[in-house]
Amino acid sequence: MSEKYDVLVIGAGPAGYVSAIRCAQLGLKTACVDNWLDKDGKHVLGGTCLNVGCIPSKSLLESSELYARCQNELSDHGITVKDIGLELSTMMQRKNKIIEDLTLGIEGLFKSNKVEWIKGRGRLLANRRVEVSSEDKQEIYQAENIIIATGSSSVEIPGAPQDNQFIVDSTGALEFDEVPGRLGVIGAGVIGLELGSVWRRLGSEVVIIEAQDVFLPIADEKIARAGKAEFKKQGLDIRLNARLMSAEVKKTDTGNKVEVIYQDAKGDHNESFDKLIVAVGRQPNSDNVFDDEAEVLLDERGCVHVNEQCETSVPGVYAIGDLVRGPMLAHKGSEEGIMVAELIAGNHAEVNYDLIPSVIYTHPEIAWVGKNEQQLKTAGENYKSGMFPFAASGRARALGVTTGMVKILSHAETDRILGVHVFGPQASEIIAQAVIAMEMGASSEDIGLTVFAHPTLSESLHEAALAVNNNAIHVANKKIKK
Ligand code: FAD
Ligand code: NAD
Repeated sequence: MSEKYDVLVIGAGPAGYVSAIRCAQLGLKTACVDNWLDKDGKHVLGGTCLNVGCIPSKSLLESSELYARCQNELSDHGITVKDIGLELSTMMQRKNKIIEDLTLGIEGLFKSNKVEWIKGRGRLLANRRVEVSSEDKQEIYQAENIIIATGSSSVEIPGAPQDNQFIVDSTGALEFDEVPGRLGVIGAGVIGLELGSVWRRLGSEVVIIEAQDVFLPIADEKIARAGKAEFKKQGLDIRLNARLMSAEVKKTDTGNKVEVIYQDAKGDHNESFDKLIVAVGRQPNSDNVFDDEAEVLLDERGCVHVNEQCETSVPGVYAIGDLVRGPMLAHKGSEEGIMVAELIAGNHAEVNYDLIPSVIYTHPEIAWVGKNEQQLKTAGENYKSGMFPFAASGRARALGVTTGMVKILSHAETDRILGVHVFGPQASEIIAQAVIAMEMGASSEDIGLTVFAHPTLSESLHEAALAVNNNAIHVANKKIKK
């Protein structure tokens, strides 16, 4: 048995590495075990988010958007550019360099905060002991507190067996070495829309096959409707109520193709693609992490069962991030990691699960926080709403992105803001202002009384707040007071 730690974290994604750093900052002797290997077989920190998730996808979204704008919009600005070309390998190298810099950055943070990095696969045993296996050895570590943050992996479906070349998950879809002519995507969720958009902008013909009959049911209905219309205009062919029956790689005269059969209300349909991305959700990495003697309870989906403080069924053992209930989002995991570190150090801490923002990084972006209109209706909540279209924003016009709107829902009597929904340019940044306002218990009147700089996209939040009480200036109000 090696030395004893105050805290041992298993998993160095955004939940685990943030938690480990905060524990060390609080004076706790901390180690973090992680088994992520990069393409060259080298151990790297950062987990899914940095290596194959948030960061590489946003890098490619940025590059592909720039390419699309250069092709489609520069002439509107009177800018003439000859020969806009695409060097996909350079785009991928840029993405890989961003990943490398950021993962090395975490390595530096571990060093400066004195977090010990243990490379290998961790397995929780009884009595807060962790067995770590690496290529050449197996060791047992002991800690007062254990934080499990082993994250999640893509769900595979039997109808579409992945070969990592033609039928791939999101990781494979961040690595194509040429732009697929025809690209199929299974699932019109967050990954389907983001990665479908990347390859569409780079020139693929994209067909998205989605099992549900409603588009993006997690978003506010109005926003989802506007999003669907815009994505269709951009060339994403989204087929709802469509069940994948089979996907098979077949040799044809024009090379290997993925032959897909899917079914909708009209019957079976055949499609032929150069590549197929399977993006039907993610599942917690809870297999082989717990020895039977560890006695940690899992729920029916394989998530570790935890309370609001992320405590598992075993005292001194916590679980955070994608491994536990709640949205599978990096910032949710990081906040849980910080909360657990503070609790272990004896401080008060909590996460406000009602105010975790969601963002879909399409163009324009979709972002929301709090309740949407369908949820308020179902709950029988008495609410009022205000909306402001980006078409009426001077800044959005100057940017040339006038699609979408800001929508604010507030309580009919108290005016306290219950939800904010944005579809438009930089929605990811605008939503942060809504989160702050809601954390402070603001009313829409409070936002209406706040001064916003002109001309900014944020003014649309201001105007939507004014619209809740029929006071908007730059758009017609529902009722004009006489
Ligand atoms: P992970 O990041 O999955 O990290 C878990 C770590 O634990 C990994 O390093 C893994 O190797 C390690 N591990 C697992 N088992 C063991 C073991 N037994 N022993 C040792 N180590 C182990 N979220 C956002 O908020 N914004 C986004 O824009 C966004 N974009 C995404 C794009 C894509 C393509 C994908 C796939 C995901 C995206 N997500 C995004 C989701 C986000 O990546 C996850 O929510 C986040 O990474 C979860 O963090 P985590 O620390 O819980 O787990
Ligand atoms: P998702 O849950 O967002 O979407 C999956 C979609 O696939 C759903 O619409 C579902 O109805 C559909 N589906 C499921 N089975 C199907 C089948 N057999 N045939 C056709 N459609 C099917 O999952 P995802 O897009 O894989 O993303 C996984 C998670 O990663 C997300 O839940 C999110 O938490 C996280 N993520 C976040 C971001 C972000 O924050 N911007 C980006 C990417 C991923």
